[in-house]
Amino acid sequence: MSERGGYCCCIHNCNSSSNPKRGIKTTLFRFPKDTKRSRLWVLACGRDNLLNKTAMELYNNYRVCKLHFENKMFFNFEKTRLQPNAVPNFQIRNKSM
Ligand SMILES: [Zn+2]
Repeated sequence: MSERGGYCCCIHNCNSSSNPKRGIKTTLFRFPKDTKRSRLWVLACGRDNLLNKTAMELYNNYRVCKLHFENKMFFNFEKTRLQPNAVPNFQIRNKSM
């Protein structure tokens, strides 16, 4: 995956991106550094190729967009910050947008 043009959301079938040329521009969040929480994010992504990455690799190279988080997972009204224990859920994509 090349990062030159910005980051894409790694949830299966999502076309959000930090770069409007590569998808629908929206807010993307880094994976957590914590190994256990990182694992939960990977499982939510539904992508087998992420399962053998380390938490730091995921943190540095992969992003999940805001569409996969419930409203209560956000720290602020603008939805630019997540709660410390937030975990994405790919099934809720676009529901509240
Ligand atoms: Zn997404």
